[in-house]
Amino acid sequence: MSFQSVSQGDAVPLFVIAGPSGVGKGTIVSRLLDASSRIWISISATTRPSRPGETEGVHYYFVTDEEFDRLIDEGEMLEWAYVHGKHRYGTPRQPVLEAQAQGLIPLLEIDLDGARQIRKSMPEAVQIFIEPPSMEELERRLRGRGTEDEEEIARRMETARGEMAARDEFDVRIVNRDVSGATRQILHLMGLDK
Ligand code: 5GP
Repeated sequence: MSFQSVSQGDAVPLFVIAGPSGVGKGTIVSRLLDASSRIWISISATTRPSRPGETEGVHYYFVTDEEFDRLIDEGEMLEWAYVHGKHRYGTPRQPVLEAQAQGLIPLLEIDLDGARQIRKSMPEAVQIFIEPPSMEELERRLRGRGTEDEEEIARRMETARGEMAARDEFDVRIVNRDVSGATRQILHLMGLDK
């Protein structure tokens, strides 16, 4: 599949970034946000407990299972999924539409399941898959960040294998060898590298 990078006058497309846990999506997203004020990152709702250093409304909206059910029932979720078979994560719909209306470029950092839902509901979205140089390197990075226990690392590596098998579904695949290079490639796709 081919597509053109955004140029002025085009409708603002939405960008999806997916890829295995630990591949460096979070760092790439921070670099993108630093690089351009036109990029708007969607803040997901999740039922997982917050980690040390995470802030409500900045990293996630941390909600109860009941609240998550309500958001789904009321059609407030653009997509949602169980991630790593445990907790639910979803993209609140309204803020994305508002960002688009303001001419901002919405960026969704979501899992494979969510990306598939967006592919159906918003086929114009540009879907980017970030992949690690190797699975060994992925495990090393996952372990290195020290936020997951062994059981969680094993679960995330298992999910990662499934995600890697689906990488051909994406419009663009970027190997995250170095964060600057990966960030530059995405800015180029967004038409923001001029
Ligand atoms: P973590 O628990 O490490 O913050 O996130 C785990 C994974 O959940 C991330 O790799 C990310 O792709 C996925 N995720 C985060 N927010 C959403 C969301 O709103 N929807 C979906 N489908 N996945 C999400």
